[in-house]
Amino acid sequence: MAVLKAIKIKDRDGEIFFRCPRCGMVFRKSKDYIRHINKSHGHLFRKA
Ligand SMILES: [Zn+2]
Repeated sequence: MAVLKAIKIKDRDGEIFFRCPRCGMVFRKSKDYIRHINKSHGHLFRKA
């Protein structure tokens, strides 16, 4: 599975969010983040 290192953000409630370093989108769940990477940025990994 493609992996692009997420930027982790902690909000003031102590919840951790994952931000995509390429487009800046923010996700609450790492699962959603990984899905986004594969869907939106997967082309970066397919022909490496
Ligand atoms: Zn992205």
